[in-house]
Amino acid sequence: MKLRATFLIAAGLSILIPIVAPARAAAPESKNQITTLYDAFGTDPSMTKDWGFSALVEIAGKRILFDTGNDADMFAANVKAKGVDLKTLDVLSHRHSDHMAGLNYVLSVNPTVKIYAPKEGFGVYGSSLPSSFYRKDETLPPEMRYYGGAPPQVMKFGAAWHGPNFELIDKTTEIAPGMTLIALVSDAPGTKELKELSLAVNTSEGMVLVVGCSHPGIEKIVEAAAAINPKIHLIAGGFHLVVASDDVVAKAVAALKDTFKVESIAPGHCTGEPMFAALKKAFGDRYLYAGLGTTLPLGANTGSDMRRGEGPALQQDDLTTYRRLARREDPFGILQARSLRTKASRL
Ligand SMILES: [Zn+2]
Ligand SMILES: [Zn+2]
Repeated sequence: MKLRATFLIAAGLSILIPIVAPARAAAPESKNQITTLYDAFGTDPSMTKDWGFSALVEIAGKRILFDTGNDADMFAANVKAKGVDLKTLDVLSHRHSDHMAGLNYVLSVNPTVKIYAPKEGFGVYGSSLPSSFYRKDETLPPEMRYYGGAPPQVMKFGAAWHGPNFELIDKTTEIAPGMTLIALVSDAPGTKELKELSLAVNTSEGMVLVVGCSHPGIEKIVEAAAAINPKIHLIAGGFHLVVASDDVVAKAVAALKDTFKVESIAPGHCTGEPMFAALKKAFGDRYLYAGLGTTLPLGANTGSDMRRGEGPALQQDDLTTYRRLARREDPFGILQARSLRTKASRL
């Protein structure tokens, strides 16, 4: 496989080496590719399929583990099956367990890894607030007052893990030249106020966008990436249309293809089967198969030797697994309610 470092930002990244100093010594060569380490569809017999998402993004001299799957043991097995070295920077897209359950395994092999995670009030990654946020009443005796009436200036709230090197991202932030974490908040019922990070890398081919679950809406995320560079080269990851109606699917496809003129698409995870089918139809050979275990080369050769235009789940057992696992992405019973309604209307 011929890989060329064609990224505009490659030169600029040399100044960032200190952030990934341990990885630098170990990284033999700079690759530009995305490898799916956790998903519920795929054809690699050495990997275990499960609902959730993780991808190793190697781009512009950096190795970024984007999310860590749904189960630490399965994640560890998949990482080993692929021979992946976890000396990486990590991004946790959001607080759903199907994206972060493998963090314990990551920390067991790389306890000091820098982990970018969304900053949320009282969130699982920890947070803080100025103590001025709460109302005071100085007429109370000290024993009835918080902190005896003398709170610290900043109140810190703990993380659900002990010791990780979290860097919390509040708003869209460029973490390295040309490499941006887009921070958006979901407004959808069931995930209101959930903050999610997406990774947008500006390359000479355009934006390479990696999304976890797209709870804030894939269109909003792409819009934010397009504000940095309107040329969207590739989008990979979960688009969260697993329970969406045909109308919503059609609208999302039209936005990606016609409004944002996305060049290539490599959907996975919670994108949903109807959206897989619609994207495949709309994008043709610019639809890149990204099932579990797949490695997508990036750069000028994106998709040149990839399985183009292929749907994600060709065999029946694969479909059955994806569907069984997809039911877990229905925590609010939307699918179930809809199928009950459909059944009732047939009676
Ligand atoms: Zn999610
Ligand atoms: Zn998810």
